[in-house]
Amino acid sequence: MTDDESTVSLCWKCQVKTRHKITEGRSGALERCAVCKNVLRVARPASVTVHDLTANEVRLVELRMRPGAVSQAGFLDPTESLVAVTRSDDTTLRALGVTHSQVASRIQRLIGKAKATVERQVKLQEPGTAEIRRIIAAYNMLGEDPRSDSEKRGPGIRVDEFEVWSHLYNGWQGCPFFLDGDVGRLSTADTCGDSDRDWIVRNTVLNDEIFFSELIIHLLRHHQFCEGHTEYRLDPARTVRVLRIGEVEGSHQ
Ligand SMILES: [Zn+2]
Ligand SMILES: [Zn+2]
Repeated sequence: MTDDESTVSLCWKCQVKTRHKITEGRSGALERCAVCKNVLRVARPASVTVHDLTANEVRLVELRMRPGAVSQAGFLDPTESLVAVTRSDDTTLRALGVTHSQVASRIQRLIGKAKATVERQVKLQEPGTAEIRRIIAAYNMLGEDPRSDSEKRGPGIRVDEFEVWSHLYNGWQGCPFFLDGDVGRLSTADTCGDSDRDWIVRNTVLNDEIFFSELIIHLLRHHQFCEGHTEYRLDPARTVRVLRIGEVEGSHQ
């Protein structure tokens, strides 16, 4: 065999070590097992919105999104319709003159700045100092619900006029929009996006905040989805207001 070892991996389904094959699927560019055709990984996710799905696919994605299916909290409440929720949020964002992509980019820039601040502080400060403990506590609230009252939360990471906290999980949450592979069988390898972090971003001027999973960046950008009425919903109007999206475009940011 002259094949580079890096192009070979074990298929979790047929247990054969095979070369990856990249094929274009409806969920994007997929790495498939050459033997059983099982999807090993989504190499590049496609942008698939609910409007691109067939009625059967909408039903499948809705089933995955109910509380207790692929996530405890769910991406939709027990009865709401994916199409109705998406339409309503599309209308809200259109009226505000903001795209899903703009919201995704704003969130990504903001949490990128927060992560860079943590990295910089960790390099600058002596290990074990109060400042390091404080910033690590704000960044890795492992086991703590970051929405607990602000007294318990402690000071956050300062990014411009925002104060930011993050909560790391012990596991990964995958994207529920995946369209290829075995129906009803989901694993992290099958998903087009995933995350192990939640965030709170507080606008200290407006004294208002939003809470979201980092997965929302992928959901907004690739699926134009803000989530339904569950605890992880990103309310689009509130998000635009708290993050000053649109306003920010013409100013120093
Ligand atoms: Zn296989
Ligand atoms: Zn996805």
